[in-house]
Amino acid sequence: FSSASSPQTNSTEENGFKGHGMLAPFTAGWQSNDVHPLVIERSEGSYVYDINGNKYLDSLAGLWCTALGGSEPRLVKAATDQLNKLPFYHSFWNRTTKPTLDLADDLLSMFTASKMGKAFFTNSGSEANDSHVKLVWYYNNALGRPNKKKFIARSKAYHGSTLISASLTGLPALHQKFDLPAPFVLHTDCPHYWRFHLPGETEEEFATRLAKNLEDLILKEGPETIAAFIAEPVMGAGGVIPPPKTYFDKVQAVVKKYDILFIVDEVITAFGRLGTMFGSDMYNIKPDLVTLAKALSSAYVPIGATLVSPEIAAVVDSQSNKLGSFAHGFTYSGHPVACAVAIEALKIYRERNIPDHVKQIAPRFQEGTKAFAGSPIVGEPWCRIDTRN
Ligand code: PLP
Repeated sequence: FSSASSPQTNSTEENGFKGHGMLAPFTAGWQSNDVHPLVIERSEGSYVYDINGNKYLDSLAGLWCTALGGSEPRLVKAATDQLNKLPFYHSFWNRTTKPTLDLADDLLSMFTASKMGKAFFTNSGSEANDSHVKLVWYYNNALGRPNKKKFIARSKAYHGSTLISASLTGLPALHQKFDLPAPFVLHTDCPHYWRFHLPGETEEEFATRLAKNLEDLILKEGPETIAAFIAEPVMGAGGVIPPPKTYFDKVQAVVKKYDILFIVDEVITAFGRLGTMFGSDMYNIKPDLVTLAKALSSAYVPIGATLVSPEIAAVVDSQSNKLGSFAHGFTYSGHPVACAVAIEALKIYRERNIPDHVKQIAPRFQEGTKAFAGSPIVGEPWCRIDTRN
């Protein structure tokens, strides 16, 4: 997030904005009297402007989410058309809306790394990961495996900040002072080769060691108690950590061996960010469940989704028929405006072939980052974008 024009001032005080009435997410010191928020007022392409007219290159794309930039008229039109037609209807009790159904079909046809059976809608990535946990528990209860309930996540993972998703997250700041992680969540190694490899260990050997540690953890806990393993294709908030070569092949073999479900958290890697439509395509991940959010609507409206395999969908369907309903959902699950915007965003990703665009610009971007190699605060000689696919 860098200023692209000479900053006039970003003092919000001058503009009468104190910002002290808001409890700010992931912010330190804001509440003290001399810290004032940077208030962003409008956006144009990849740039945003604050209330004093300063222009910034939004190099983080919001929070890795405004994938189509900040002024895509087609997304605005999709939202306003839907707002004019039907601003809201819910999806409970066998009612829903057309954009909700269409988006579910779109997502199921776009995700091809493994076959997905159904999509469930949420408002965020955190809610989508919470929903995965409930879906997996429901599934194992239905299959008569009430003890198969633990989740394995990874140190430095980020899966959200609600109680369950923060538990899956492997960052101490999200646990300390919150009495987390919940006891059913275990953490295994962070796959950061540069930081954690042993002297002389190759990437492949490092991946083998991590897969062995994962297997040891499963055996120690008892495979009959482990329900699922969750991973981001490239770790995001934990430090933008691409996996070492062969890592996903090896960990997938381990979880499969013990009948453990694989959840891929594609909240930041979906829709072209890595140069493939999904991170799973890049690393040959064949998940049972998929988490989506952020670029799903290019962040113009909040929406998240979970995709579940046909097997899980079938069990949930038949069980909920027996019980009367699948008692999980949100007022805004499948919100028609969010779904209409997401449908348009997916159309644009395909029409403009965004994954190929990323592949084309990545080497140039990577070349540019080499200018920082000599900086004393840069300690990453192992910097490569994996273009195996
Ligand atoms: N999963 C991943 C990989 C994320 O990066 C994030 C957010 O950054 C989340 C889940 C949580 O999504 P949200 O902030 O929409 O709840």
